[in-house]
Amino acid sequence: MKKTIVLGAGGFIGSHLVKRLKLDGNYVVAVDLKLPEFTISPADEFIQGDLRDFQFTDSVITENCDELYQLAADMGGAGYVFTGGHDADIMHNSALINLNVAKISTQKNVKSIFYSSSACMYPEYNQMDPNNPKCSEDSAYPADPDSEYGWEKLFSERLFLAFKKNYSLNVKIARFHNVYGEEGAWDGGKEKAPAALCRKVAATKNGEIEIWGDGIQTRSFLYIDDCIDGIIKLTRSNETGPFNIGSEELISINDFAFLIAEIAKKEVKIKHIDGPTGVRGRCSDNTIIAKAIGWEPKIDLKTGVSKLYAWIENELKNTN
Ligand code: NAD
Repeated sequence: MKKTIVLGAGGFIGSHLVKRLKLDGNYVVAVDLKLPEFTISPADEFIQGDLRDFQFTDSVITENCDELYQLAADMGGAGYVFTGGHDADIMHNSALINLNVAKISTQKNVKSIFYSSSACMYPEYNQMDPNNPKCSEDSAYPADPDSEYGWEKLFSERLFLAFKKNYSLNVKIARFHNVYGEEGAWDGGKEKAPAALCRKVAATKNGEIEIWGDGIQTRSFLYIDDCIDGIIKLTRSNETGPFNIGSEELISINDFAFLIAEIAKKEVKIKHIDGPTGVRGRCSDNTIIAKAIGWEPKIDLKTGVSKLYAWIENELKNTN
């Protein structure tokens, strides 16, 4: 039985990771400011506290840890990250967490540590063409992320890699591209495009839904189970990364809304409104991770979004 620690275990990806690690028979210590919102955590221990606090972080990262997963961050969808209104908090809170975690994991001889970076660290100049974005791992520099959230991710990638170089910290880094699935935020400002669009389609009475920007911007979306497979596979590999963990199925936001409408068996009319949209195009390039550790997504967008839509429709019913 491996002793694992999941930081950010009350969040979307962290709560799914805890479930998988428990199903696989590991001992799991879960840490977060808050309990998971939509599920009861099966973790062996759930410790609530603030990872910006060095003493607290020092108390939860113990000596005999086989695998530590660092997913805690101040984070949200475009409405949270791309408006600029939360930049200082995002950078300060997430950087403090990562500074504490890198240092203490080194001092406590954590055997393997996973860090969740983001595709938001890729330079904006390679993501201007919606139909031809470039996000291969080697395109990260010269750096020019379009958000402070992306700059913090880039800083923390370099922080963990510096601890590897100077202190042999066995770090593994993934750059996630838009992960979606059940039991994530779907309302209230921190939700991301897949959940927000499902909610809008499920809630519409007259068929009209609002989309931020012209909807021509493209993205790829990765189903949560594939993401968890990638995290665990990378953490148990001999590789370091940073590697993309994402889907290569590129779709415009307009077409994504129509796909959800098709799943919902509804006719929708899109109303484009002003709002934060991020880069014009973004898509994972899995060439390197597929070769290095043999990971690729198994669940296509329509299958994954059908599961998300059913869950959100039900949440909406329960709320009403
Ligand atoms: P999330 O917001 O659902 O989870 C993050 C968790 O971190 C939250 O539960 C939050 O309470 C916790 N946290 C924040 N500050 C804390 C603190 N000071 N002390 C303790 N806990 C704290 O986000 P998620 O979607 O599960 O993302 C997990 C990680 O993956 C994050 O680092 C995020 O930046 C990264 N990521 C996610 C996506 C995505 O599409 N979901 C894409 C790229 C990168």
